[in-house]
Amino acid sequence: MTRFEPNLRIPGPTALPPSVREAGGRQMVNHRGDEFKALLGRVDEGMRPYFGTSGRVILLTCAGTGALEAAVVNTLSPGDAVLAVTMGAFGDRFAAIAETYGAVVTRLPVDWGRAAEPEAVRQAAAAIPNLKAVLLTHNETSTGVANELEPLASAIRDVAPDALLLVDAISAMGAVPFAMDAWGLDLVVTGSQKAWMSAPGMAMAALSPRAWAATETARMPRFYLDLRRHRDTAVNGETPWTPAVAVLYQVDEGLRLMQAEGDGVFARHEACAAMTRAGLRALGFELLADDDVASKTVTAAWIPDDLDWKAFNGALKRRGLVLAGGQGKLKGKIFRVGHLGSVTTDDILAALGTLEAALVELGRDVAPGVAVTAAQRALLAAARTPAGVA
Ligand SMILES: *Cc1c(COP(=O)(O)O)cnc(C)c1O
Repeated sequence: MTRFEPNLRIPGPTALPPSVREAGGRQMVNHRGDEFKALLGRVDEGMRPYFGTSGRVILLTCAGTGALEAAVVNTLSPGDAVLAVTMGAFGDRFAAIAETYGAVVTRLPVDWGRAAEPEAVRQAAAAIPNLKAVLLTHNETSTGVANELEPLASAIRDVAPDALLLVDAISAMGAVPFAMDAWGLDLVVTGSQKAWMSAPGMAMAALSPRAWAATETARMPRFYLDLRRHRDTAVNGETPWTPAVAVLYQVDEGLRLMQAEGDGVFARHEACAAMTRAGLRALGFELLADDDVASKTVTAAWIPDDLDWKAFNGALKRRGLVLAGGQGKLKGKIFRVGHLGSVTTDDILAALGTLEAALVELGRDVAPGVAVTAAQRALLAAARTPAGVA
């Protein structure tokens, strides 16, 4: 069957709304001129409420990983003691970056599929003398688990008030409420290709006054990602190096769409997550994350032993549904459904309908309509809650 647009259900890059695609095709401007200055200012201001910060949002031309690297090299020195709370592949990556630059990293591994426990984090932080920083993941994309950052931050502050809290919020910020300043986080990063409905190529970072102070004493080497250069040029409406102007056009347009939708953005992600979970369960899939720690932007499910994933995924792809596989030690064991950015509740119904059809094609004992029915019910339930969709 011909499908003219794939149903791209991976946790980034996410599908672009038509107006965002058009924005990316606009003519270039002088990146040292007034139009660019206005654009940069608009995106900085537009991003702040989603970060929950009154400070400047720095726009970097790089993948999300580049912003994780920026977080490390701008605040730390070789030999610094760092606690990495890791609950999946992206937490491990953050820890590896800090190690690469010479930090002395202690890992607190959390079972994949579970969230970090404030008490365990408190104990781990208390056990490290001169703890300089804690690396935290907001939303672990490899497992579909979300951490509650506020209790984690306060547990760390109890025992290590001077430790900097560096947060990978790449895959859920913009899709869920976030309050960097109120939660006491020091350096938070995200990336254009996740909830921001834009192409890959830009990452954003915001820093607390403590984190800015740390940039003056940190001794890890940095040049391209030196956040002080970005801050100092941003004052004049510029970036230190030539930015990904086309991606910035897109982020600007994505923000305009998000602002028009208001809190509906968060309700839509809640509903899509609930629908995905209900639908997958109705098909007999076991989910990695329990409901209370489940991500609002990505859902991971175990591949049953008796399901031939290659044949199944092939049947999905022929129908235009693109899912993500597992990463790291979960490769071949799970699949992931992304539901962030420009996702609609109808996209989720379509994805679940495709999953049903593929399972039927493979001769599995699945009643056509069960997943879609379960998802419709979850949508109605979500609409009845105060945060639900209208
Ligand atoms: C996508 C993602 C990253 C990495 O982003 P890249 O742009 O691929 O470098 C890091 N952390 C999390 C949680 C992510 O979801």
